Amino acid sequence: MTDGRIETGAGPGTAGEMGHWIAGGPVAGRSGRRAEVFDPATGRVAGHVALASAAEVDAAVAAAAAAFPAWRDASLVKRAQVLFRFRELVDAHRDELAALITAQHGKVRADALGEVARGLEVVEFACGIPHLLKGGYSENVSTGVDSFSIRQPLGVVAGVTPFNFPVMVPMWMFPVAIACGNTFVLKPSERDPAASLLLASLWRRAGLPDGVFNVVQGDRVAVDRLLEHPQVRAVSFVGSTPIARHVYQTGTRHGKRVQALGGAKNHMLVLPDADLDLVADAAVNAGFGSAGERCMAISVVIAVDPAGDELVHKIVQRVAGLVVGPGDDPEAQMGPLVTGAHRDRVAGYLDAALAEGAKLVVDGRETPIRGGTTAAATPGFWLGPTVLDHVRPGTAVHRDEIFGPVLSVVRVPSYEEGLAIINGTEYGNGAAIFTGDGRAARRFHAEVEVGMVGVNVPIPVPMAFYSFGGWKASLFGDTHVHGPDGVHFYTRGKVVTSRWPDQGHGGVNLGFPTNG
Ligand code: NAD
Repeated sequence: MTDGRIETGAGPGTAGEMGHWIAGGPVAGRSGRRAEVFDPATGRVAGHVALASAAEVDAAVAAAAAAFPAWRDASLVKRAQVLFRFRELVDAHRDELAALITAQHGKVRADALGEVARGLEVVEFACGIPHLLKGGYSENVSTGVDSFSIRQPLGVVAGVTPFNFPVMVPMWMFPVAIACGNTFVLKPSERDPAASLLLASLWRRAGLPDGVFNVVQGDRVAVDRLLEHPQVRAVSFVGSTPIARHVYQTGTRHGKRVQALGGAKNHMLVLPDADLDLVADAAVNAGFGSAGERCMAISVVIAVDPAGDELVHKIVQRVAGLVVGPGDDPEAQMGPLVTGAHRDRVAGYLDAALAEGAKLVVDGRETPIRGGTTAAATPGFWLGPTVLDHVRPGTAVHRDEIFGPVLSVVRVPSYEEGLAIINGTEYGNGAAIFTGDGRAARRFHAEVEVGMVGVNVPIPVPMAFYSFGGWKASLFGDTHVHGPDGVHFYTRGKVVTSRWPDQGHGGVNLGFPTNG
């Protein structure tokens, strides 16, 4: 930042255009391509973002490659000190980061602040890098021979991130990657690119050497160049399943290490003995927080008989009290969706669900919007909280990731049927059970096929010192992000076997080395 403003990389003829951050400073886009960035609360174009060419990606990778040798050789203590300073700066700029998130994503301020806080926790985890990178040491594996294991950084690594967490998801990746001694190129979502530039300027103020953290704004052109660039050693991706699959297949074909997190369809299984007030609160919070645009949102509640009627009644009561409005309105609990096209796609599921036999219990098109009229008639990308009951498993509204404020209720006669529905879905990100029965809960977390499980917790996002990731179509690759898996992903192992010979040594011996 300069004088409290974000350095956007705007250059002559690019007024207000958000550009790249390469080699320690802002760089204006030169490709001649750019995209509109909206204010979702009004629907108006609020600015533009540069879309990088392959040559601009190459410039960012070259800056990262040039910075790597010195950063790799920086001591663990020095790296940790930069991370501690970065942590203090992010903490001090929480409000500005949250304001940028709200302006371009649309989520309400409290939610944006929560996103920053969860990202900050990964920075705090990465501050412990001297401890995290300790290896193992074995004395005398053979007489006079010692062995030790170390983990070393990979080089230039890249992160490609989605629109729904423009601060937190990049911060799942780069604090750990940089702490491990890598240099980083971030390709944020083109829908809400501003926060990445503020984060870049905070890194510079923290004393991170130029070129260790770079940002290229862009779309598929930038991503595909990163995936095939010979100097990019690893790619972390978070986004929708079709793109995650493409990133994994293309990146691994080019010899890279890839972790690609995809979409989700998270279920909450409610047993009849559960506290239904707790369940209704949890379903509303996890279904409609951030307008349902969370990869860990609950989009399906499976009510085991006879819980359904009472539970739906309690959910509807709570939804009636929700306040929907612009994210910077302190009264608003839920904001708009990210773009008009996305809102239309989500709303399209309502009529489809009716045609497939579901009952529309709350119609979010009719929701009053603060400062406007109904969601459908207010300028901006609005759709209110929507509840569908008696949704049939396997129909489009149950099967597809909708990624909006639509909560489906499915009714089943037994735990077994509910579990079969969850395990029958394409995705495997998160799932939750609500019950007062410890044996049922224990059985559920053993049997459910997802990467993250909640017991009376609707959004079981692991803390930074655990790793985050799903199963099945929710993750391509075998390592989850941040926590121990993050350190593993951004480093490679080496084992050293060493002897400092005394007078006697074995002489020539062509036999395979064994201990003795
Ligand atoms: P998206 O897949 O459209 O975009 C993600 C990133 O990929 C963006 O940076 C985008 O520019 C890039 N991209 C888009 N099309 C591309 C293409 N054809 N080739 C290469 N790159 C391309 O996702 P989104 O709409 O930004 O985000 C929402 C999705 O992200 C949802 O599916 C959600 O579940 C998922 N998500 C998953 C997690 C998780 O942890 N599993 C977390 C957050 C979001």
